[in-house]
Amino acid sequence: MRQKIVAGNWKMNKNLAETKALISDLKAEENTSGARVIITPSFVNLALAVSETEGTAIEVAAQNMSQYNAGAYTGEVSAAMLKSAGVNVVILGHSERRAYYGETDSLLAEKVDKALAEGMEVIFCFGEELEERKADKHYDVVASQISNALYHLGEDAFKNIILAYEPVWAIGTGETATAEQAQEMHFFIRKTLADKYSAALAESVSILYGGSCKPSNAEEIFSKEDVDGGLIGGASLKAADFFGVVNANK
Ligand code: PEP
Repeated sequence: MRQKIVAGNWKMNKNLAETKALISDLKAEENTSGARVIITPSFVNLALAVSETEGTAIEVAAQNMSQYNAGAYTGEVSAAMLKSAGVNVVILGHSERRAYYGETDSLLAEKVDKALAEGMEVIFCFGEELEERKADKHYDVVASQISNALYHLGEDAFKNIILAYEPVWAIGTGETATAEQAQEMHFFIRKTLADKYSAALAESVSILYGGSCKPSNAEEIFSKEDVDGGLIGGASLKAADFFGVVNANK
């Protein structure tokens, strides 16, 4: 049975007081879907978020981490630092990291290895640009992003991998992939996993959809067989909207 998951990508939003206030609002919401709920405040507010969510079912994840252990890497945050703050999940490969900070598939492979070596769970993001979809290259792009960063892993490692298909043209644009487009891609991803590893592995990996998902469209997207939940940007910044999405993941 695959896990249902809704993760909020807070990006560079919410200062310390706002983080505290949003978590307080989130704690007041009821999770009627049973989905795993994950939030990702900025690095500087992670420790606060961990303590504010203690005793609740809300999990705290990081939005990024270094591929290195420690040392002279100014501005970076290591997996061990995250773990010491009580953070056991990290988003890697978000399209904004790829586009604005030059994160490549090979760098992401290193980061994935480091996170897994530290016993962390990875939400691994990938997805095509609009031009790539228009040129009918979206399946090739997604297959290569996944294989370049993940296919050196053994089957066992996928217990700690959550996949997030995020078509770049749908992120923060208000334009959502249709539920059919999401399902087609998620089905394709599961098939590539089955071909590379096994049908059992493909069936066990949670695949989230991300891209302008909100309470009004989440239920239709999540109703698709191969969509196990969502990675939510804008709609994760208000508790009622976020839980509108969480509770659509029935
Ligand atoms: C994201 O950044 O991962 C995302 C899905 O953003 P939005 O929901 O705002 O499109």
